Amino acid sequence: MAKRFDILTLFPEMCRSVVDASIIGRAIKADKLEVYTHNIRDFAFNKWNKVDDTTYGGGMGMLMQAEPIYQCYQEVSAGMTEKPYVVYMSPQGKPLTQKKAIALSKMDCSIMFICGHYEGIDQRIIDEIVDEEISIGDYVLTGGELGALVVVDAVGRLCPGVLSSDECFTDESHFNGLLEYPQYTKPAIWHEKEVPPVLVSGHHGKINQWRREQSLANTYNKRPEMLSKADLDKKDLIFLKELKIKSKEN
Ligand code: SAM
Repeated sequence: MAKRFDILTLFPEMCRSVVDASIIGRAIKADKLEVYTHNIRDFAFNKWNKVDDTTYGGGMGMLMQAEPIYQCYQEVSAGMTEKPYVVYMSPQGKPLTQKKAIALSKMDCSIMFICGHYEGIDQRIIDEIVDEEISIGDYVLTGGELGALVVVDAVGRLCPGVLSSDECFTDESHFNGLLEYPQYTKPAIWHEKEVPPVLVSGHHGKINQWRREQSLANTYNKRPEMLSKADLDKKDLIFLKELKIKSKEN
């Protein structure tokens, strides 16, 4: 069954332009994913279509009201057999990681995103319907749309049939706790820079060993803190020990 995502937003056209493009767009056309966008403004309950108001206690800016979001949530989930997993995109949420993307991709139910805007959304709607708050990083955006699109992309590409094979993502950075090895394509020489000879040797054992070592070296050089959580064998540890000695010598 295709994984379903629902994005509740004030800017559905912004979300559609992203999800309908490239790999996610092709997966939607091929019925491998379903991504629906819903305009929270359609659920405004006043003649001005206003969905925000000033905050109690004073302060700058406007806050999105609970009721339009609630009505939108009710209408969207009414057509579902199972309750969706509701995610509020928020700078206060748990940071998105590959581990979280894998966990979300394996969930049986659909995922619904609430995108805030302005100062955010009324706390009572979070308390009432939100299962989890997710952040895409320790910075503040103007709205949750970019965050929801990042999660749809990261989770969507892990769903069956979206990429040509599982190897497309199991080999990549973060999947096994390491960064990926460097990659090269044709031509074999570009700007006098040659592709590492082992990659054109046709020797799969040596290529795999080179890739593993490059992956370890990349992680050691760019994100050393990741190594303590990675799944490393004896050979990896010996390679890293030698790498540390070499880098101290230089
Ligand atoms: N007043 C809020 C606070 O300080 O926590 C920030 C509101 S922000 C300007 C407006 C909306 O952008 C939020 O409701 C949220 O949906 C989204 N947003 C902002 N930063 C985000 C982040 N790092 N990750 C995910 N969503 C974010």
